[in-house]
Amino acid sequence: MTVRATARGRARTSLDGTRCDVLVCGASFAGLAVARELAGSGARVVVVDRYEIGERATSACAAPTPWLTAMGLSGAIVQEIRHMRFATPHGAVRYRLPWSWSSFDYRRLCRLLFEQCGDAEFHTAKVEGRVDAGRVDPGRVGSGQAGSGVEGRAGPGRPGLGEPIAVRTDRGTLSAPLVVDALGWRRVLGADGYQPPRAPLSRGLEVHPVGAGEDLDVWIERGLVRRGYAWRVPAGGEVRVGVGSYAPAEHVREATVALAGRLAVEPERYQGNWFPHRLRAATEGSVFFAGDSAGHCFPLSGEGIRTAFYFGIACGRELRAVVEDGQPRERALERYDAFSASHRRAFAVALGLQRLVPALPPRVLTLALRAMGRQWIVDRSFGWYLRQAPPSFAESHLQSRGWRRGGTKAASRSSSSTTSAASYRA
Ligand SMILES: Cc1cc2nc3c(=O)[nH]c(=O)nc-3n(C[C@H](O)[C@H](O)[C@H](O)COP(=O)(O)OP(=O)(O)OC[C@H]3O[C@@H](n4cnc5c(N)ncnc54)[C@H](O)[C@@H]3O)c2cc1C
Repeated sequence: MTVRATARGRARTSLDGTRCDVLVCGASFAGLAVARELAGSGARVVVVDRYEIGERATSACAAPTPWLTAMGLSGAIVQEIRHMRFATPHGAVRYRLPWSWSSFDYRRLCRLLFEQCGDAEFHTAKVEGRVDAGRVDPGRVGSGQAGSGVEGRAGPGRPGLGEPIAVRTDRGTLSAPLVVDALGWRRVLGADGYQPPRAPLSRGLEVHPVGAGEDLDVWIERGLVRRGYAWRVPAGGEVRVGVGSYAPAEHVREATVALAGRLAVEPERYQGNWFPHRLRAATEGSVFFAGDSAGHCFPLSGEGIRTAFYFGIACGRELRAVVEDGQPRERALERYDAFSASHRRAFAVALGLQRLVPALPPRVLTLALRAMGRQWIVDRSFGWYLRQAPPSFAESHLQSRGWRRGGTKAASRSSSSTTSAASYRA
């Protein structure tokens, strides 16, 4: 069972009245990618999550190796995977990819990411929703008073970035002119949330037993899951075995247990979640949305880590232009929204395939997978797929920002109830 490391008792002081330049809600792939992009900008960045950084993973944690390398996250890799094997009831094919996947350790990856976040502060807090900005008492916002427990850190934000947006958490109300919802599919800061199973969401469940393997295995079998697929991701000394269904009403626990049985591994250490398969507006009510909260998870593959990085970086760059270059917030919202929307076609193609593949007669699908196995087709199709969110997008950050330098300011501001990116580097 996961142990919650969230600050308790005296360490869990109120954050009420905390005011900053950028408030990033969610400290997973998307949220940390946003904060990382702001390192060294001089912006007061506060990151909140209901769990400690890296505490609770909800994925098989496999991403394209070139992305992990480009982001300086190679240290979290536990296994590189060069081949994918696709199996149907009528046969199997093995593809050698033009690039590799790597499975990684979630906790280590998140910590490495946070180390790159410069002066960003981190607090554990559950985000409950948005406070109507008009109802916030301006005397309280940014005051750091009323037993906030954050005196000295909750100073006023930088003027001129826009009207503050107030966000209610279980530790009080925090506000910032620039707010990012990277909270996953629930889109907590949006006007209307999704309610599964009646929502464009897929569901996934996996187990993490001891085991070994070399390939990323994918099974497309209606007997296991009617519309979806099953997987086995090798990760050092364990395998991550799971089932995903594109039909949100379809349960996947039985199929996951059946697959584990077939592979002779223990169905233990469960984890599961919903993940979106449709793009949503990337901005709403002056709030930025990145990662699953904006539907930035590829349909068909259910791959959402790379895209959370990609759109998180894009969002962070727009925010940086606001704090550093005086770009108006409205312009940043427009530009980020347009950037996200410019990927509509790729997401629509993937959604079309997500509908087509389960509808194909299994024998036809097997023939199609075989036909696609020619190396030039594998290279072209997987090359196209990687290019929809290419790793070069992250590389330019390393060259231009010099993130390794940031962090000293945060160390001087840190206290018992604050975690700073600098303290992770220590
Ligand atoms: C079983 C499964 C396996 C998967 N495997 C892969 C894979 O191998 N590769 C891949 O690319 N994708 C995979 N995915 C999809 C991938 O996990 C998501 O697309 C990805 O995690 C999205 O990243 P994110 O940062 O947007 O959101 P999340 O990773 O969901 O992070 C959201 C963060 O917000 C926090 N949070 C949520 N609500 C609140 C709140 N109210 N208050 C405070 N904090 C809150 C959470 O604690 C979390 O830290 C998988 C999904 C599932 C379900």
